[in-house]
Amino acid sequence: MQTVGKLMKVFLTRRIPPEGMKVLTAAGVCEVSLWDSDEPVPRTELLRGVQGAHGLLCLLSDKIDAEVLDAAGPNLKVISTLSVGFDHMALDEIKKRGIRVGYTPDVLTDATAELTVALLLATARRLPEGVEEVKNGGWSSWKPLWLCGYGLSGSTVGVIGLGRIGMAIARRLMPFGVKRLLYSGRTAKAHAAEVNGEFVPLDTLVSESDFIVVSCSLTPETQGLCDKAFFSKMKNTAVLVNSSRGAVVNQEDLYEALTSGQIAAAGLDVTTPEPLPTNHPLLTLKNCVVLPHIGSATYSTRGIMAALSAQNLLGGLQGADMPSELTF
Ligand code: NAP
Repeated sequence: MQTVGKLMKVFLTRRIPPEGMKVLTAAGVCEVSLWDSDEPVPRTELLRGVQGAHGLLCLLSDKIDAEVLDAAGPNLKVISTLSVGFDHMALDEIKKRGIRVGYTPDVLTDATAELTVALLLATARRLPEGVEEVKNGGWSSWKPLWLCGYGLSGSTVGVIGLGRIGMAIARRLMPFGVKRLLYSGRTAKAHAAEVNGEFVPLDTLVSESDFIVVSCSLTPETQGLCDKAFFSKMKNTAVLVNSSRGAVVNQEDLYEALTSGQIAAAGLDVTTPEPLPTNHPLLTLKNCVVLPHIGSATYSTRGIMAALSAQNLLGGLQGADMPSELTF
């Protein structure tokens, strides 16, 4: 572990982009210790590093539960996560202890929406298969039905969770000639008018969509939402894309749906677990495109996320405003 600076103690569970470190060091109000690696902090090191900390900067791969909070002790005022998702944190335990939470909404919306559109197109138009065929000699000639897929023009797209990212995905998809944009969630959204979005029951979305994009948050209600019953209602020609959290999809049921021809294809940026073991059955399928959770992975987005999470941490440490404080 490496120590830089003085005063209030903060623990960073990983190396973060320099934009974030600059904010922390320039403030000069905290003594920073970090798990000085690009790999996740082992649990024992997390429990050790957080002891006596006033602030904790964590990542989505760190489970922040009662054990971590107890290890930190009563000094802990703020937890800042370098993510917009907060399903890795036990919010009830955090709230009980009066700890504030910062997160990174908005700044990663465009990057994540862009990646989701790329994944949708790659999956529907079979890009990884095509690239592979070029390399392995499978490309013999132009053939009328070889490597055909599904196009967006004239299609119905269903977005599960028309939040910040869901809306940004919808905005990007409409210019491809999408005919109907359906969405589901807990409440209808005024902003849906911009994409002519129709708020429909989940069952309607599932049975009528040619492309289903999952962009909701992971909650007890959305955990396992895409299961056997869900897939059985999808069109055989439909494509599922998930860039929310892996646990929203039941992967055993997805495997079954993909191998039985129940659905056409799936693109996943998120899985359970992460990383997905290289011998996982989903990785044997040509009609399943799996990415390593890179939704927000542009250089500029990650830099901005790091700076924002450092600002959130400082706000919480100083009892001041946090640029993006989670209300819960
Ligand atoms: P957001 O604005 O809070 O949107 C979340 C959406 O989920 C809301 O529209 C919400 O709808 C919906 N939702 C909640 N419960 C639902 C349910 N039971 N059924 C259907 N929809 C439900 O958050 P965001 O910024 O768009 O981020 C969304 C999620 O994307 C994050 O939580 C994170 O897990 C994931 N994410 C992934 C990556 C990546 O790298 N792949 C990057 C960033 C974020 P209501 O408002 O109607 O409740």
